[in-house]
Amino acid sequence: MFDWLIVGAGFAGSVLAERLASQRNAKVLVIDKRNHIAGNAYDRHDNAGVLMHQYGPHIFHTNSQAIFDYLSNFTGWRPYEHRVLAQVDGQLLPIPINRTTINKLYGLSLSSDAETEAFLATLAEPVPEIRTSEDVVVSRVGRELYEKFFRGYTRKQWGVDPSELDKSVTARVPTRVNEDDRYFNDSFQFMPEHGYTRMFERMLDHPNIKVMLNTRFEEIRDIIPYRRMIFTGPVDEYFDFRYGRLPYRSLRFEHVTLDKPWHQPVGVVNYPQTEDYTRVTEYKHLTGQEHPKTSLTYERSSAEGEPYYPVPRPENALLYKKYEELAEAEQDVWFVGRLATYRYYNMDQVVGQALATFRRIEASLSEVEVD
Ligand code: FAD
Ligand code: UDP
Repeated sequence: MFDWLIVGAGFAGSVLAERLASQRNAKVLVIDKRNHIAGNAYDRHDNAGVLMHQYGPHIFHTNSQAIFDYLSNFTGWRPYEHRVLAQVDGQLLPIPINRTTINKLYGLSLSSDAETEAFLATLAEPVPEIRTSEDVVVSRVGRELYEKFFRGYTRKQWGVDPSELDKSVTARVPTRVNEDDRYFNDSFQFMPEHGYTRMFERMLDHPNIKVMLNTRFEEIRDIIPYRRMIFTGPVDEYFDFRYGRLPYRSLRFEHVTLDKPWHQPVGVVNYPQTEDYTRVTEYKHLTGQEHPKTSLTYERSSAEGEPYYPVPRPENALLYKKYEELAEAEQDVWFVGRLATYRYYNMDQVVGQALATFRRIEASLSEVEVD
């Protein structure tokens, strides 16, 4: 009899397995339907020996000292500040839009934050209430930059117009008036020294944790005895789609290795205007690996396939609320992670959510023990 069954060996499942095994001496079974641990953060060496990310570029960034310290128990780190260029009007320009982007695009020589702010103010369109992903961008940089950098990319990525997506989606990308060209400005920006998979191996390396791969929850739910469960798969699937399907956006990854050391100047190049793919990642920029060849991933998104992104739209939030009510009523089952709580969370946020869930579990178990 296992104390816990954990469905999913991604961040949500693995953090909870580690906490329950090491802090509560619980016997834990972690299962995953895939043939590997680490969920979407899984990385591996490809046939050429280049370390690549199977499910697209994963860059760790957080403002939380506690989350960084927790993961540091399982990995050393390599400092890495992510930079992205967007191919717009035939040029490679910094995204997030910053002073350099504006100067290059408009042939200007704005030289201060104040001048850039004043220029952006001439482009910005007033929007009375910022509700959608279009509103966020248009109100800050105006329609022309919105069309060039955001509209096409978002339509490719999400299959809907930014005017139909919650503001939180494009609000992930700031606009800057200085020359800071980093994609993130969090205080901790690192890559795990030997990759994500190695970090997960260390997290799950505990005598109380057993891992079963290539195993779907549905196959074992009635066969393997367990007391309590953590579920990190899609919440609508768990409830047999009782209220209909929650939309998740899927991706297709095309991995390529080239017989030359470098392909592009930065880790990621975005294609908001041309091409059927959204972005191209070159991993050696992220990992710091030295290798005579280089490996890339082309990302195309689609409605069908493995679920990757919850789709932040008001009607989806309402549908999720109904599933959330079912989840809350489910005895001895905790729903954690991007798919199970239908949240567009980054890795650090999922780690934070899992650690918070562990504290709630501890509180509820100590009540049971007192009873
Ligand atoms: P997952 O990693 O999806 O793990 C869930 C696991 O459950 C999966 O392995 C799945 O196989 C398994 N599972 C599901 N259903 C079942 C079932 N029925 N039976 C058995 N197993 C099941 N975050 C960042 O912080 N920085 C980034 O740069 C970044 N880039 C990203 C790029 C892409 C393309 C994507 C898709 C995501 C990115 N993220 C990034 C987000 C990051 O991937 C997630 O925050 C994180 O992986 C979520 O962890 P999780 O455990 O909730 O889910
Ligand atoms: N986005 C865009 N153009 C870009 C970069 C981002 O339109 O060049 C929009 C797009 O809708 C994207 C969202 O901003 O989905 C959030 O971008 P982020 O890079 O955070 O996406 P993720 O890495 O999570 O896919």
